[in-house]
Amino acid sequence: MKVPQLDLVAQYGTLRGALRRAVDDLFESQRFILGPAVEDFEDAMAGLLGVPGAVGLSSGSEALRVALAVLDVGPGDEVLLPAFTFFATASAVVHRGARPVFVDVGEDFLMDPADAAVQVTSRTRAAICVHLYGLQVPWAPWRELAAAHGLRLIEDAAQCVGARRAGEGHAGSLGDAAAFSFFPSKNLGGAGDGGLLTARDPALLARARRYRNHGEACRYHHEEVGINGRLDALQAVVLHAKLPHLAAWNEARRARAGRYEALFAASRVAERVGRPVLPAGGEHVFHQYTIRVPERRDALLDWLREREIGAAVYYPLPLHRQPCFAAEPSAARPLPVTERLAGEVLSLPIYPEISEDQQAWVVASIEAFYGR
Ligand SMILES: *Cc1c(COP(=O)(O)O)cnc(C)c1O
Repeated sequence: MKVPQLDLVAQYGTLRGALRRAVDDLFESQRFILGPAVEDFEDAMAGLLGVPGAVGLSSGSEALRVALAVLDVGPGDEVLLPAFTFFATASAVVHRGARPVFVDVGEDFLMDPADAAVQVTSRTRAAICVHLYGLQVPWAPWRELAAAHGLRLIEDAAQCVGARRAGEGHAGSLGDAAAFSFFPSKNLGGAGDGGLLTARDPALLARARRYRNHGEACRYHHEEVGINGRLDALQAVVLHAKLPHLAAWNEARRARAGRYEALFAASRVAERVGRPVLPAGGEHVFHQYTIRVPERRDALLDWLREREIGAAVYYPLPLHRQPCFAAEPSAARPLPVTERLAGEVLSLPIYPEISEDQQAWVVASIEAFYGR
């Protein structure tokens, strides 16, 4: 039985009519750059997340870069970020001429506020908190750290669209600014690249809107040197048509995670496989279902792939060990939890359309590997 890592063809099958109508309508209007399609989607996202506004951008990576720019992070500044995350969290900082400071993560895969506190210097301007794998970062420790040292907080919410922690609100409504990605494999995926910035401060939102459009205040008048970083109207209409399904998709991902937990608990590998905690609320949207396998992880990965099971490792080489960051002073510091996790994590296929049989087959295949 084939178990792909993600089944976007199955998802398209349920949305074909709505997506084609949305794209057709846009073609009839021929308004491809900004305009009502982008504004309507931005308003819908702001409403969903409970923030005053949102700015559509060309990717999640650009959303991070714009967030740093409108918060005035630049040369000479240091930005705290986890070493265990996707590359763009750090490259956005380097693109601003600032310095990434790599911080260890905890056993929950999220940046460790205690390790971050140790790394604060007089040059630290901001921290980028990553809601990794779909788990929303508990916010109170970061608010305290920011208040104590005058830091700006940016959320990397690329893997966490729609999550909401009771008493705190949605991922993307917590920091000074937040970045979302609509890369096709994300929980809300476009038909290509796309991203979004959210913020509470209207002045920041206005600046981000200008910045994505060459810093243009009005036509051919440039207040600052911005970029071409706009969300395409074509992406906006596709994303807007998918948005009403997001809550149900996230709910289905949580249910599939619960199914994996039950299957593993009843399996012969219950002791060998470390499973993610399943929080009771909506704070986990399971962009990834990531287990920990201390024994022979890479051989297990090969075994699953031979059986056409789309398992993957996020992330095999932590950021502080990447060749391109070798000259960063903070890259020399050992980060024990990050380094251990890089050798142990394994993400299993999870998506709303995965069947009970497919999940049972994934777990049976892991049992078969260790039973050999
Ligand atoms: C996907 C992702 C990004 C980048 O988003 P793109 O839209 O691909 O540029 C940034 N950070 C994290 C954690 C991501 O998963």
